[in-house]
Amino acid sequence: MPAKCKQRERILAAGTVDIPVLPVGAIRGNLCFRCFSPSSNILKCSACKRAGYCSKECQKLDWSIVHKNHCKIFKTINQVEESQYQEKRTWDEYSDYLVISCALLLKFVRQFLIFIRAQPYCSSCRRSAVQLSSRKITLTRCDKCRLVFSCGDCNATHKPSVCVAYQNHAHVENFRIGFFEDTGKASPVTCTQFPCKTRKPLKDAAGWYDYFVNISDKPQIKDIIKPDFSGLTNVVGEVGTAKEKEDQERMRMFLLCATENLTMPLTVLAALEDINWDKPHLNIHILGATGREMLALGNFEEMLHLVPSLKGLHITAVGPESWAGSAEQTSAYFPKMDLDCCPACKSDGRMRSIASFKGVYHDFATTPEYEKPDLMVLFNSGFADGDDAESHWAPTIRMVVQGDVPALFTTYNEQEAQNEKTIMERLGASFVVEPEKNMWRGLVPTPEFIDEEYGVWFQNAYRYVVYGTKG
Ligand SMILES: [Zn+2]
Ligand SMILES: [Zn+2]
Ligand SMILES: [Zn+2]
Ligand SMILES: [Zn+2]
Ligand SMILES: [Zn+2]
Repeated sequence: MPAKCKQRERILAAGTVDIPVLPVGAIRGNLCFRCFSPSSNILKCSACKRAGYCSKECQKLDWSIVHKNHCKIFKTINQVEESQYQEKRTWDEYSDYLVISCALLLKFVRQFLIFIRAQPYCSSCRRSAVQLSSRKITLTRCDKCRLVFSCGDCNATHKPSVCVAYQNHAHVENFRIGFFEDTGKASPVTCTQFPCKTRKPLKDAAGWYDYFVNISDKPQIKDIIKPDFSGLTNVVGEVGTAKEKEDQERMRMFLLCATENLTMPLTVLAALEDINWDKPHLNIHILGATGREMLALGNFEEMLHLVPSLKGLHITAVGPESWAGSAEQTSAYFPKMDLDCCPACKSDGRMRSIASFKGVYHDFATTPEYEKPDLMVLFNSGFADGDDAESHWAPTIRMVVQGDVPALFTTYNEQEAQNEKTIMERLGASFVVEPEKNMWRGLVPTPEFIDEEYGVWFQNAYRYVVYGTKG
């Protein structure tokens, strides 16, 4: 019986920084909203018709923890939906509707957007589950992926490639839920266990598989996991026992999900190779930092483990959503704090430290704590396309381009990278690396629900590096 997922808010309040987000499987009616258990008989909340539970017990518990408030907001959403009812919508019309509804919802809280974005709907007429249910029209889920639907009027089918992508996503969500139940951690973090004696440049690697086998320390996956991590090799299928296959599949999912964190230090390291940076102490500023970078902090030790000449790594996380330390602390700056290193690093006298500024970067730059970094990093900043693009980012981006410091940018997709490139060119930025597919992107495809029907995005999918202005 799941215990940790069920009590995730309590676990979060007790100081754990990372808990699983509500799975798409729950929003689309396969998993309980409270304990995330799968159930073929999910009971819907009769008031909002959006939250669903495996049992009365979970429903009661969820009501007391969050749903009492959520239910009201969901009912408001449903009224908006009803006022916009159409018999049939094209994808563009449906997508526009999602954009407008999400903008309305931003008035409440950001975390609700996923409930709307990922809501169940008929893949042909694009009426939502709530709209169909109030008209007594059935909505049937695909029995393979269980995440794509057709209404009784349409009897639509979806492409096999879409079905497989959603099956894989359900598999990842299932792994993450089990992993949290087993370990109390929402996402796997893994480093090369011992620091390397000689540096093996990332630019010589062919990708993640090569990194795990030849640069890091996971040669055991060779000939077992497929090089693109899409599954196990045929060899396993032929000779392995059921138990072996299960363990190896777990290993595959662990490494696949671990790339979601490892993408950060490796993408930074690749950028340092691009600018031929090679000094004993590295000072990085992460702009637009959120809890995600904080969670992945342990993973940045990987940089020390892959670069023998690196003795010190200092990271300053800067952004309106960065952390500011304790509640008593009034300043926006959270001073430099040493982080623990592994025994091998410690005996080598290596150091890691972190500081944080809760605010925008161009404000941080005017404070006495500001020290010019070796590299500025903007992971998936969305400065050209995001909700807060103009207001927050414009002065910072001008500063980044005009400063004499190299800057690494990543984006969720190619279009976003191209839009950012246009702005960069207008500002006269000089490119060290033009926008390109990032070899060190996270490997987990995450469904995207607004820009493109059945689209997916990846952590740090595209990347580019700029350094000052031209001429
Ligand atoms: Zn439940
Ligand atoms: Zn409800
Ligand atoms: Zn339909
Ligand atoms: Zn399907
Ligand atoms: Zn270490």
